[in-house]
Amino acid sequence: MARLLIIGCGGVAGVAIAKCCQNSEVFTDICIASRTVSKCEAVKEKLAPHTKTRITTAKVDADNVEELVALIKEYGPTAVLNVALPYQDLTIMDACLEAGVDYIDTANYEPEDTMDKVWREKYEKRCKEEGFSAYFDYSYQWAYEDKFRNAGLTALLGTGFDPGVTSVYTAYALKHYFDEIHTIDILDCNGGDHGYPFATNFNPEVNLREVSAPGSYWENGKWIEVPAMSIKREYDFPQVGMKDMYLLHHEEIESLAKNIPGVKRIRFFMTFGQSYLTHMKCLEDVGMLSTEPVMHNGQEIVPIQFLKTLLPDPASLGERTVGKTNIGCIFNGVKDGKEKTIYIYNVCDHQECYKEVGSQAISYTTGVPAMIGAMLVCQGIWKKPGVFTTEQFDPDPYMEALNRFGLPWVVDENPATVE
Ligand code: NDP
Repeated sequence: MARLLIIGCGGVAGVAIAKCCQNSEVFTDICIASRTVSKCEAVKEKLAPHTKTRITTAKVDADNVEELVALIKEYGPTAVLNVALPYQDLTIMDACLEAGVDYIDTANYEPEDTMDKVWREKYEKRCKEEGFSAYFDYSYQWAYEDKFRNAGLTALLGTGFDPGVTSVYTAYALKHYFDEIHTIDILDCNGGDHGYPFATNFNPEVNLREVSAPGSYWENGKWIEVPAMSIKREYDFPQVGMKDMYLLHHEEIESLAKNIPGVKRIRFFMTFGQSYLTHMKCLEDVGMLSTEPVMHNGQEIVPIQFLKTLLPDPASLGERTVGKTNIGCIFNGVKDGKEKTIYIYNVCDHQECYKEVGSQAISYTTGVPAMIGAMLVCQGIWKKPGVFTTEQFDPDPYMEALNRFGLPWVVDENPATVE
Protein backbone atom coordinates (compact mmCIF):
# COMPACT_ATOMS: atom_id res chain seq x y z
CA MET A 1 0.00 0.00 0.00
CA ALA A 2 2.66 2.58 1.02
CA ARG A 3 6.19 3.19 -0.22
CA LEU A 4 8.35 4.87 2.39
CA LEU A 5 11.68 6.52 1.72
CA ILE A 6 13.70 6.39 4.96
CA ILE A 7 16.65 8.78 5.19
CA GLY A 8 19.29 7.83 7.76
CA CYS A 9 20.41 4.37 8.83
CA GLY A 10 21.61 4.84 12.43
CA GLY A 11 20.25 3.61 15.77
CA VAL A 12 16.74 5.08 15.47
CA ALA A 13 16.41 4.24 11.77
CA GLY A 14 17.38 0.61 12.50
CA VAL A 15 14.32 0.22 14.73
CA ALA A 16 11.95 2.19 12.48
CA ILE A 17 13.01 0.00 9.53
CA ALA A 18 12.57 -3.24 11.52
CA LYS A 19 9.10 -2.06 12.59
CA CYS A 20 8.10 -1.16 9.00
CA CYS A 21 9.13 -4.71 8.07
CA GLN A 22 6.84 -6.09 10.81
CA ASN A 23 4.03 -4.04 9.24
CA SER A 24 4.20 -5.17 5.61
CA GLU A 25 0.46 -4.75 4.96
CA VAL A 26 1.04 -1.00 5.27
CA PHE A 27 4.69 -0.70 4.18
CA THR A 28 4.84 -2.82 1.04
CA ASP A 29 8.06 -1.08 -0.06
CA ILE A 30 10.78 0.82 1.74
CA CYS A 31 13.98 2.43 0.50
CA ILE A 32 16.78 3.02 3.02
CA ALA A 33 19.10 5.88 2.07
CA SER A 34 22.12 7.53 3.66
CA ARG A 35 25.61 8.63 2.67
CA THR A 36 27.10 5.24 3.63
CA VAL A 37 25.12 2.85 1.47
CA SER A 38 26.97 -0.19 2.87
CA LYS A 39 25.20 0.36 6.22
CA CYS A 40 21.84 0.44 4.43
CA GLU A 41 22.76 -2.75 2.55
CA ALA A 42 23.70 -4.50 5.81
CA VAL A 43 20.30 -3.67 7.35
CA LYS A 44 18.55 -4.84 4.18
CA GLU A 45 20.44 -8.15 4.22
CA LYS A 46 19.50 -8.77 7.84
CA LEU A 47 15.79 -8.01 7.45
CA ALA A 48 14.89 -9.02 3.87
CA PRO A 49 14.70 -12.80 4.46
CA HIS A 50 12.10 -12.33 7.23
CA THR A 51 9.67 -9.79 5.76
CA LYS A 52 7.25 -9.32 2.88
CA THR A 53 8.27 -5.64 2.65
CA ARG A 54 10.41 -5.09 -0.45
CA ILE A 55 13.59 -3.28 0.63
CA THR A 56 15.84 -1.24 -1.63
CA THR A 57 18.75 1.03 -0.74
CA ALA A 58 20.22 4.24 -2.10
CA LYS A 59 23.08 6.62 -1.51
CA VAL A 60 22.11 10.20 -0.75
CA ASP A 61 23.62 13.25 0.88
CA ALA A 62 20.65 14.80 2.62
CA ASP A 63 22.41 18.17 2.86
CA ASN A 64 21.98 18.39 -0.90
CA VAL A 65 18.43 19.26 -2.01
CA GLU A 66 19.05 18.40 -5.68
CA GLU A 67 20.26 14.89 -4.81
CA LEU A 68 17.26 14.40 -2.55
CA VAL A 69 14.75 15.58 -5.15
CA ALA A 70 16.27 13.25 -7.76
CA LEU A 71 16.03 10.28 -5.37
CA ILE A 72 12.45 11.09 -4.31
CA LYS A 73 11.34 11.47 -7.95
CA GLU A 74 13.05 8.25 -8.95
CA TYR A 75 11.65 6.18 -6.04
CA GLY A 76 8.18 7.77 -5.97
CA PRO A 77 7.44 7.29 -2.25
CA THR A 78 4.15 7.98 -0.46
CA ALA A 79 6.15 9.88 2.17
CA VAL A 80 9.70 10.53 3.37
CA LEU A 81 10.73 9.59 6.94
CA ASN A 82 13.71 11.65 8.08
CA VAL A 83 15.67 9.72 10.70
CA ALA A 84 19.00 11.29 9.76
CA LEU A 85 20.06 14.23 11.94
CA PRO A 86 18.24 17.46 12.87
CA TYR A 87 20.77 19.31 10.64
CA GLN A 88 19.05 17.85 7.57
CA ASP A 89 15.44 18.76 8.47
CA LEU A 90 15.19 21.84 6.26
CA THR A 91 16.88 20.40 3.18
CA ILE A 92 14.64 17.31 3.34
CA MET A 93 11.54 19.50 3.82
CA ASP A 94 12.58 21.57 0.78
CA ALA A 95 13.03 18.42 -1.28
CA CYS A 96 9.64 17.01 -0.20
CA LEU A 97 7.96 20.25 -1.28
CA GLU A 98 9.71 20.21 -4.62
CA ALA A 99 8.91 16.56 -5.27
CA GLY A 100 5.37 16.77 -3.84
CA VAL A 101 5.46 14.19 -0.98
CA ASP A 102 4.61 14.21 2.73
CA TYR A 103 7.40 14.65 5.32
CA ILE A 104 7.91 13.07 8.77
CA ASP A 105 10.73 13.54 11.32
CA THR A 106 11.65 12.94 14.99
CA ALA A 107 13.62 16.02 16.04
CA ASN A 108 13.45 19.73 15.29
CA TYR A 109 15.93 21.66 13.26
CA GLU A 110 19.23 22.83 14.61
CA PRO A 111 22.24 23.92 12.56
CA GLU A 112 25.39 21.84 12.39
CA ASP A 113 27.52 24.98 12.43
CA THR A 114 26.41 27.13 15.35
CA MET A 115 28.99 29.76 14.40
CA ASP A 116 27.27 30.46 11.06
CA LYS A 117 26.85 34.26 11.03
CA VAL A 118 23.36 34.45 9.51
CA TRP A 119 22.00 31.77 11.81
CA ARG A 120 23.73 33.23 14.89
CA GLU A 121 22.19 36.65 14.37
CA LYS A 122 18.69 35.14 14.29
CA TYR A 123 19.54 32.91 17.26
CA GLU A 124 20.76 35.75 19.45
CA LYS A 125 17.62 37.76 18.64
CA ARG A 126 15.47 34.76 19.59
CA CYS A 127 17.36 34.22 22.87
CA LYS A 128 16.57 37.82 23.86
CA GLU A 129 12.95 37.79 22.68
CA GLU A 130 11.89 34.31 23.83
CA GLY A 131 14.13 33.84 26.85
CA PHE A 132 15.61 30.40 26.13
CA SER A 133 19.00 29.69 24.61
CA ALA A 134 18.84 26.12 23.25
CA TYR A 135 20.26 25.84 19.73
CA PHE A 136 17.05 24.24 18.44
CA ASP A 137 13.56 25.65 18.19
CA TYR A 138 10.50 25.15 16.01
CA SER A 139 10.54 28.54 14.27
CA TYR A 140 12.52 27.28 11.25
CA GLN A 141 10.11 24.44 10.53
CA TRP A 142 6.93 26.32 11.47
CA ALA A 143 7.99 28.84 8.81
CA TYR A 144 7.16 26.11 6.23
CA GLU A 145 3.46 26.11 7.25
CA ASP A 146 2.18 28.10 4.24
CA LYS A 147 4.34 26.19 1.77
CA PHE A 148 3.08 22.78 2.95
CA ARG A 149 -0.54 23.99 3.25
CA ASN A 150 -0.54 25.50 -0.23
CA ALA A 151 0.99 22.34 -1.68
CA GLY A 152 -1.65 20.17 0.07
CA LEU A 153 1.14 18.25 1.82
CA THR A 154 1.58 17.13 5.43
CA ALA A 155 4.72 17.67 7.49
CA LEU A 156 4.56 15.72 10.77
CA LEU A 157 7.29 16.96 13.11
CA GLY A 158 8.81 15.18 16.07
CA THR A 159 7.25 11.71 16.07
CA GLY A 160 9.78 10.04 18.38
CA PHE A 161 9.09 9.41 22.08
CA ASP A 162 9.98 12.79 23.48
CA PRO A 163 8.96 14.71 21.48
CA GLY A 164 6.29 12.57 19.89
CA VAL A 165 4.57 10.13 22.23
CA THR A 166 4.69 12.62 25.13
CA SER A 167 2.62 15.08 23.05
CA VAL A 168 0.22 12.29 21.98
CA TYR A 169 -0.20 11.42 25.69
CA THR A 170 -1.07 15.09 26.26
CA ALA A 171 -3.70 15.11 23.49
CA TYR A 172 -5.09 11.82 24.84
CA ALA A 173 -5.27 13.15 28.42
CA LEU A 174 -7.07 16.26 27.19
CA LYS A 175 -9.51 14.24 25.07
CA HIS A 176 -10.41 11.60 27.68
CA TYR A 177 -9.52 12.85 31.18
CA PHE A 178 -9.60 16.66 31.44
CA ASP A 179 -11.61 19.74 30.50
CA GLU A 180 -8.43 21.75 30.96
CA ILE A 181 -4.81 20.75 31.66
CA HIS A 182 -2.91 23.18 33.91
CA THR A 183 0.48 21.57 34.45
CA ILE A 184 2.52 18.98 32.55
CA ASP A 185 5.65 17.30 33.91
CA ILE A 186 7.39 15.17 31.31
CA LEU A 187 9.64 12.58 32.98
CA ASP A 188 12.26 10.70 30.97
CA CYS A 189 13.96 7.99 32.98
CA ASN A 190 16.60 5.64 31.67
CA GLY A 191 17.31 3.02 34.33
CA GLY A 192 19.54 1.11 31.91
CA ASP A 193 23.21 0.24 32.48
CA HIS A 194 25.55 -0.32 29.49
CA GLY A 195 28.63 -0.89 31.64
CA TYR A 196 30.71 1.93 30.07
CA PRO A 197 31.81 4.82 32.33
CA PHE A 198 30.47 7.22 29.68
CA ALA A 199 28.39 6.78 26.50
CA THR A 200 25.32 8.42 25.01
CA ASN A 201 22.16 6.57 24.03
CA PHE A 202 21.64 8.39 20.79
CA ASN A 203 23.78 10.53 18.49
CA PRO A 204 26.44 11.88 20.92
CA GLU A 205 26.70 15.29 19.30
CA VAL A 206 22.95 15.95 19.38
CA ASN A 207 22.60 14.40 22.85
CA LEU A 208 25.47 16.31 24.49
CA ARG A 209 24.41 19.62 22.97
CA GLU A 210 20.95 19.05 24.43
CA VAL A 211 21.93 18.11 27.96
CA SER A 212 24.76 20.62 28.41
CA ALA A 213 22.48 23.55 27.47
CA PRO A 214 20.77 25.68 30.17
CA GLY A 215 17.50 24.22 31.44
CA SER A 216 14.21 26.01 30.93
CA TYR A 217 10.51 25.61 31.56
CA TRP A 218 7.32 27.35 30.55
CA GLU A 219 5.32 29.13 33.24
CA ASN A 220 2.45 31.60 32.99
CA GLY A 221 3.04 32.41 29.35
CA LYS A 222 6.82 32.75 29.38
CA TRP A 223 10.10 30.82 29.46
CA ILE A 224 12.15 30.66 32.63
CA GLU A 225 15.77 29.70 32.03
CA VAL A 226 18.05 28.24 34.70
CA PRO A 227 21.70 27.05 34.63
CA ALA A 228 22.24 23.52 33.26
CA MET A 229 21.44 20.78 35.81
CA SER A 230 20.55 23.31 38.53
CA ILE A 231 17.06 21.93 39.27
CA LYS A 232 17.20 18.41 40.64
CA ARG A 233 14.35 16.20 41.88
CA GLU A 234 14.00 12.58 42.95
CA TYR A 235 11.22 10.38 41.64
CA ASP A 236 10.28 6.77 42.31
CA PHE A 237 9.67 5.45 38.79
CA PRO A 238 7.35 2.46 38.41
CA GLN A 239 9.38 -0.69 37.56
CA VAL A 240 12.68 1.26 37.73
CA GLY A 241 12.88 2.73 41.25
CA MET A 242 14.17 5.93 42.82
CA LYS A 243 16.25 8.12 40.47
CA ASP A 244 17.71 11.64 40.42
CA MET A 245 16.36 13.71 37.57
CA TYR A 246 17.26 17.17 36.27
CA LEU A 247 15.24 19.87 34.56
CA LEU A 248 16.18 20.33 30.88
CA HIS A 249 14.95 22.48 28.03
CA HIS A 250 13.08 20.21 25.61
CA GLU A 251 11.45 20.84 22.28
CA GLU A 252 7.91 19.64 22.95
CA ILE A 253 7.52 22.31 25.66
CA GLU A 254 7.46 24.88 22.86
CA SER A 255 4.73 23.23 20.80
CA LEU A 256 2.62 22.16 23.81
CA ALA A 257 2.69 25.72 25.18
CA LYS A 258 1.28 26.86 21.84
CA ASN A 259 -1.27 24.10 21.30
CA ILE A 260 -2.68 23.20 24.75
CA PRO A 261 -5.15 25.91 25.75
CA GLY A 262 -5.01 27.01 29.38
CA VAL A 263 -1.74 25.25 30.25
CA LYS A 264 0.11 27.15 32.99
CA ARG A 265 3.35 25.25 33.45
CA ILE A 266 5.31 22.68 31.43
CA ARG A 267 8.54 21.12 32.67
CA PHE A 268 10.81 18.35 31.38
CA PHE A 269 13.03 16.18 33.59
CA MET A 270 15.59 13.56 32.58
CA THR A 271 17.44 11.13 34.83
CA PHE A 272 21.24 11.07 34.86
CA GLY A 273 23.65 9.01 36.92
CA GLN A 274 26.57 10.64 38.72
CA SER A 275 29.17 9.08 36.38
CA TYR A 276 27.50 10.63 33.32
CA LEU A 277 27.31 14.07 34.94
CA THR A 278 30.92 14.02 36.17
CA HIS A 279 32.23 13.00 32.74
CA MET A 280 30.09 15.57 30.97
CA LYS A 281 31.19 18.40 33.25
CA CYS A 282 34.84 17.49 32.79
CA LEU A 283 34.50 17.25 28.99
CA GLU A 284 32.72 20.59 28.95
CA ASP A 285 35.36 22.23 31.16
CA VAL A 286 38.19 21.17 28.83
CA GLY A 287 36.29 22.32 25.72
CA MET A 288 35.42 18.91 24.27
CA LEU A 289 31.72 19.80 23.88
CA SER A 290 32.49 22.85 21.76
CA THR A 291 30.99 23.09 18.27
CA GLU A 292 33.56 25.71 17.30
CA PRO A 293 36.34 24.39 14.98
CA VAL A 294 39.91 24.45 16.35
CA MET A 295 43.24 23.82 14.62
CA HIS A 296 44.96 20.59 15.64
CA ASN A 297 48.32 19.66 14.06
CA GLY A 298 47.50 21.78 11.03
CA GLN A 299 44.03 20.31 10.61
CA GLU A 300 40.71 21.89 11.54
CA ILE A 301 38.62 19.74 13.88
CA VAL A 302 35.36 20.29 15.75
CA PRO A 303 35.90 19.08 19.35
CA ILE A 304 32.41 17.55 19.81
CA GLN A 305 32.72 15.70 16.49
CA PHE A 306 36.08 14.28 17.55
CA LEU A 307 34.52 13.19 20.85
CA LYS A 308 31.80 11.39 18.85
CA THR A 309 34.55 9.40 17.11
CA LEU A 310 35.93 8.30 20.49
CA LEU A 311 32.64 7.33 22.13
CA PRO A 312 30.88 3.99 21.64
CA ASP A 313 28.42 3.96 18.72
CA PRO A 314 24.95 4.22 20.35
CA ALA A 315 23.74 1.51 17.94
CA SER A 316 26.26 -0.89 19.55
CA LEU A 317 24.97 -0.49 23.12
CA GLY A 318 21.98 -2.79 22.75
CA GLU A 319 23.68 -6.07 23.52
CA ARG A 320 25.25 -4.85 26.78
CA THR A 321 22.47 -2.63 28.18
CA VAL A 322 20.30 -4.06 30.96
CA GLY A 323 17.42 -2.43 32.85
CA LYS A 324 14.36 -0.45 31.85
CA THR A 325 13.27 2.97 30.67
CA ASN A 326 10.17 4.72 31.96
CA ILE A 327 9.00 7.76 29.99
CA GLY A 328 5.74 9.56 30.57
CA CYS A 329 3.83 12.66 31.62
CA ILE A 330 2.10 13.74 34.82
CA PHE A 331 -0.89 15.95 34.08
CA ASN A 332 -2.78 18.12 36.54
CA GLY A 333 -5.96 19.97 35.65
CA VAL A 334 -9.73 19.98 36.06
CA LYS A 335 -12.57 17.72 34.96
CA ASP A 336 -16.21 18.60 35.70
CA GLY A 337 -15.03 21.31 38.09
CA LYS A 338 -12.83 18.94 40.13
CA GLU A 339 -9.03 18.97 40.26
CA LYS A 340 -7.35 15.77 39.14
CA THR A 341 -3.89 14.34 38.39
CA ILE A 342 -2.97 11.44 36.13
CA TYR A 343 0.30 9.89 34.95
CA ILE A 344 0.58 8.20 31.55
CA TYR A 345 3.79 6.27 30.96
CA ASN A 346 5.51 3.45 29.13
CA VAL A 347 8.08 1.05 30.55
CA CYS A 348 10.49 -0.51 28.08
CA ASP A 349 13.08 -3.21 28.79
CA HIS A 350 16.48 -2.78 27.08
CA GLN A 351 17.12 -6.51 26.72
CA GLU A 352 13.61 -7.23 25.38
CA CYS A 353 14.24 -4.58 22.70
CA TYR A 354 17.57 -6.13 21.88
CA LYS A 355 16.01 -9.57 21.52
CA GLU A 356 13.30 -8.23 19.22
CA VAL A 357 15.16 -5.80 16.94
CA GLY A 358 18.81 -5.81 18.07
CA SER A 359 18.80 -2.34 19.67
CA GLN A 360 18.63 -0.69 23.09
CA ALA A 361 15.44 0.89 24.43
CA ILE A 362 16.28 4.53 23.58
CA SER A 363 16.46 3.78 19.86
CA TYR A 364 13.44 1.47 20.25
CA THR A 365 11.27 4.05 22.00
CA THR A 366 12.10 6.53 19.19
CA GLY A 367 11.99 4.18 16.19
CA VAL A 368 8.59 2.66 16.98
CA PRO A 369 6.79 6.06 17.12
CA ALA A 370 8.64 7.13 13.96
CA MET A 371 7.13 4.14 12.16
CA ILE A 372 3.68 4.84 13.70
CA GLY A 373 3.72 8.50 12.63
CA ALA A 374 4.76 7.49 9.10
CA MET A 375 2.03 4.82 9.03
CA LEU A 376 -0.75 7.25 10.05
CA VAL A 377 0.37 9.81 7.46
CA CYS A 378 0.68 7.18 4.70
CA GLN A 379 -2.76 5.73 5.55
CA GLY A 380 -4.30 9.21 5.36
CA ILE A 381 -5.42 8.97 9.03
CA TRP A 382 -3.12 11.80 10.13
CA LYS A 383 -3.19 13.76 6.93
CA LYS A 384 -3.99 17.44 6.59
CA PRO A 385 -2.17 20.17 4.70
CA GLY A 386 0.38 22.08 6.76
CA VAL A 387 3.10 21.58 9.38
CA PHE A 388 2.04 19.82 12.58
CA THR A 389 3.34 18.33 15.82
CA THR A 390 1.81 15.16 17.21
CA GLU A 391 -0.57 16.76 19.73
CA GLN A 392 -2.44 18.37 16.82
CA PHE A 393 -4.04 15.11 15.59
CA ASP A 394 -6.55 12.63 17.05
CA PRO A 395 -4.44 10.69 19.59
CA ASP A 396 -6.60 7.52 19.63
CA PRO A 397 -5.23 5.70 16.55
CA TYR A 398 -1.66 6.50 17.64
CA MET A 399 -2.30 5.25 21.21
CA GLU A 400 -3.82 2.06 19.81
CA ALA A 401 -0.78 1.57 17.56
CA LEU A 402 1.62 2.06 20.51
CA ASN A 403 -0.02 -0.91 22.24
CA ARG A 404 0.12 -2.97 19.06
CA PHE A 405 3.73 -2.25 18.10
CA GLY A 406 5.57 -2.71 21.40
CA LEU A 407 5.16 0.43 23.52
CA PRO A 408 2.12 -0.29 25.73
CA TRP A 409 1.13 2.50 28.10
CA VAL A 410 -0.37 2.74 31.56
CA VAL A 411 -2.70 5.40 33.01
CA ASP A 412 -2.17 5.87 36.77
CA GLU A 413 -5.00 7.97 38.23
CA ASN A 414 -3.33 8.40 41.61
CA PRO A 415 0.35 9.11 40.96
CA ALA A 416 3.07 10.69 43.08
CA THR A 417 3.71 14.21 41.81
CA VAL A 418 6.94 16.20 41.39
CA GLU A 419 7.48 19.18 43.69
P1 NDP B 1 22.74 8.24 14.35
O1 NDP B 1 23.89 9.15 14.43
O2 NDP B 1 22.84 6.85 14.90
O3 NDP B 1 22.29 8.08 12.81
C1 NDP B 1 22.17 9.17 11.96
C2 NDP B 1 22.06 8.65 10.54
O4 NDP B 1 21.90 9.77 9.68
C3 NDP B 1 23.26 7.87 10.07
O5 NDP B 1 22.82 6.71 9.43
C4 NDP B 1 23.93 8.81 9.06
O6 NDP B 1 24.49 8.01 8.04
C5 NDP B 1 22.73 9.60 8.56
N1 NDP B 1 23.14 10.91 8.07
C6 NDP B 1 23.83 11.88 8.72
N2 NDP B 1 24.06 12.91 7.91
C7 NDP B 1 23.51 12.59 6.72
C8 NDP B 1 23.43 13.24 5.48
N3 NDP B 1 23.97 14.44 5.26
N4 NDP B 1 22.78 12.62 4.46
C9 NDP B 1 22.23 11.39 4.63
N5 NDP B 1 22.26 10.73 5.80
C10 NDP B 1 22.91 11.32 6.82
O7 NDP B 1 21.50 9.02 14.99
P2 NDP B 1 20.26 8.40 15.79
O8 NDP B 1 19.69 7.27 15.01
O9 NDP B 1 20.63 8.22 17.20
O10 NDP B 1 19.23 9.64 15.72
C11 NDP B 1 18.44 9.87 14.56
C12 NDP B 1 17.49 11.04 14.83
O11 NDP B 1 16.59 10.72 15.88
C13 NDP B 1 18.19 12.34 15.27
O12 NDP B 1 17.59 13.42 14.59
C14 NDP B 1 17.88 12.42 16.74
O13 NDP B 1 17.87 13.75 17.20
C15 NDP B 1 16.50 11.82 16.77
N6 NDP B 1 16.07 11.34 18.10
C16 NDP B 1 14.81 11.66 18.53
C17 NDP B 1 14.36 11.24 19.76
C18 NDP B 1 12.95 11.50 20.18
O14 NDP B 1 12.50 10.90 21.15
N7 NDP B 1 12.19 12.34 19.51
C19 NDP B 1 15.22 10.46 20.67
C20 NDP B 1 16.50 10.07 20.08
C21 NDP B 1 16.90 10.54 18.84
P3 NDP B 1 25.70 8.49 7.10
O15 NDP B 1 26.67 9.23 7.98
O16 NDP B 1 26.22 7.24 6.50
O17 NDP B 1 25.06 9.36 6.06
